Amino acid sequence: MTTDWSYAPTRDRLRPGQSPDTAFFWSGCDDHRLLIQRCADCGVLRHPPGPACPVCHSLESDHVEATGRGTLYSFAVHHYPPVQGFDGPAVVGLVELDEGVRMVSNIVGSDPGSLHIGDRVKVFFLDQEEGWSVPQFTVIAPAGATS
Ligand SMILES: [Zn+2]
Repeated sequence: MTTDWSYAPTRDRLRPGQSPDTAFFWSGCDDHRLLIQRCADCGVLRHPPGPACPVCHSLESDHVEATGRGTLYSFAVHHYPPVQGFDGPAVVGLVELDEGVRMVSNIVGSDPGSLHIGDRVKVFFLDQEEGWSVPQFTVIAPAGATS
């Protein structure tokens, strides 16, 4: 597979806001680990992180490390207006991780016109100039391929 990185985002993004519920996620990204919140009582995984389990309403949670692999569930291509930290059209993807939760992230390394629902994707971490990292996904196999 030929990789075209012309759609890769730049390294000067605005840092996302953090809360006590999301701090573990961003700390994991800084260590290049994709962490998913897990209910400490019933074990359900959830993303984005939040204070309470939507299933059993427990306020106790921990996290697990994801494989970083998933499937492109949906996506949109952002063309305008320009956004700091993005160079050219940016693909905003909804990735369904193999663990079963969905995560919004950028899909980079492919011409947006070549993307398809069902493409297999894998996470990588884009280090920002200010010393933090953001998860991004790239296609590793087209939809329908066995991987
Ligand atoms: Zn629960």
